Amino acid sequence: MKKQKRVAVVGFPNVGKSTLFNRLLNRKKSLVHSLPGMTRDGVAAPCRLQDKNFVLVDTGGFFDTQQDPFSTLVRKKAWEASQEADILIFVIDGKRELLPAERELYLSLKKLDKPMLVVVNKVDSPQDEGLLGDFFRLGDGDIIAISAEHKRNLEVLEDALFQVLPETYAAASSDDEERKAIKIAIVGRTNVGKTSIVNLMSGEEKLIVSEIPGTTRDSTDTLIFRDKQAFCLVDTAGIRKLSRTQDQREKAGIIKAKKDIRQADVICLVLDAMEFPTRQDTAIAHLALDSGKPLLLALNKWDLIQKEKDTSHSFKTRVYKKMDFVAYAPLLFISALTGKKVIKILDTALEVYANARKRVATSRLNEFLQWVNKNHPPISRKKRKIKIKYMVQADRFPPTFLLFTHSQVSLAPAYEKYFIHLLREQLDFWGTPIRIRLRRN
Ligand code: GDP
Ligand code: GDP
Repeated sequence: MKKQKRVAVVGFPNVGKSTLFNRLLNRKKSLVHSLPGMTRDGVAAPCRLQDKNFVLVDTGGFFDTQQDPFSTLVRKKAWEASQEADILIFVIDGKRELLPAERELYLSLKKLDKPMLVVVNKVDSPQDEGLLGDFFRLGDGDIIAISAEHKRNLEVLEDALFQVLPETYAAASSDDEERKAIKIAIVGRTNVGKTSIVNLMSGEEKLIVSEIPGTTRDSTDTLIFRDKQAFCLVDTAGIRKLSRTQDQREKAGIIKAKKDIRQADVICLVLDAMEFPTRQDTAIAHLALDSGKPLLLALNKWDLIQKEKDTSHSFKTRVYKKMDFVAYAPLLFISALTGKKVIKILDTALEVYANARKRVATSRLNEFLQWVNKNHPPISRKKRKIKIKYMVQADRFPPTFLLFTHSQVSLAPAYEKYFIHLLREQLDFWGTPIRIRLRRN
């Protein structure tokens, strides 16, 4: 296992380092995870932001708060902790002036040439932001104003931290052995052709079914390769016709889909071109939406359809009309009988998965926002025009965005849908659900 990056919270005594350290740890449970041999020891804790692991180091405890902040010992300790770290969070106190010695510390930290986030703490309310002018000279104008105590803007800090943390995700590794198998759940009601699809894929010559050492998978999963990328078809051996009555089959189908979706990275919902979309197709599509996972639709038995000029177009319209809530999912016309386009399921799965794990730089998001504010101004629930000040991507799987506004408002539902549509189109989030949340700032 690669050495975890160390992120140190540094700064003078009493600026709020320990408060921030604890806030970052307690904010969400997912942030703290346990690695073998590593436990939280008061000054360092193993952490995770989405799929990036790191160790968060608090240097607050190193200082005696009564100590004279000008003492050389204070500076020496902060300096040592900073040298050992890979990334620095330099905290200053927004309630007082910047000390000359603090500026000196900042300048010497900068010389370490490590990623450094400059955080002004104790900015407890928007009014306090007016006092920030002086601090902008640090951090090359890029400072993050937060309140550790009142939990303001912590997500902005996390977002910035995420951007500077190196990728630890296995799929990004150039080493093929380390490539993560993308887990695909082939779901759908009975007789749509799920087993035929899986058999076809695992029988395909180019797709060598093999074992990757060290990957945990259920004995019922099917592992296949395409162009060195591994795919794991979730629990496909478990596709069985269990029940006799139609009603029982429907229920069993939904329960199985639920379970498979839970284990999957990507969902492929199979529909039958001869009979769709049925009530059960729609029910499974809803499960896919709620899971927040990327989705693609495969309309199977396309060989049975008499084709004319716009047949595919009219089928497409029918699918998206009946299931407009998953209109983000690409649609493939396939035939497990002839093999047509079946392999495309894997390529498309890879694409939608990449979109779901994508992270867009805050600067790019705000370019988009400027364009939206100008051309498609946001509308509130009360039908008023509102301005979104800025936005950040707070999460992935599914991509989740925080929109900051001046006052406590919510978007008109129709506008929210439209906004998501624009975001998906402009920044290519094809195939994945998108969530947005409004925050007053
Ligand atoms: P450290 O010495 O840098 O680790 O600082 P501490 O975390 O011990 O905090 C020093 C003092 O600042 C404590 O009294 C905290 O309650 C207070 N403090 C920390 N964060 C904030 C904040 O966001 N706003 C305000 N007003 N006070 C804070
Ligand atoms: P499952 O219950 O979803 O796993 O469906 P199966 O794979 O068992 O397929 C159900 C029936 O549909 C079988 O008789 C298959 O031979 C048939 N079938 C599956 N895919 C196709 C297809 O693309 N075209 C045609 N014509 N029949 C298919």
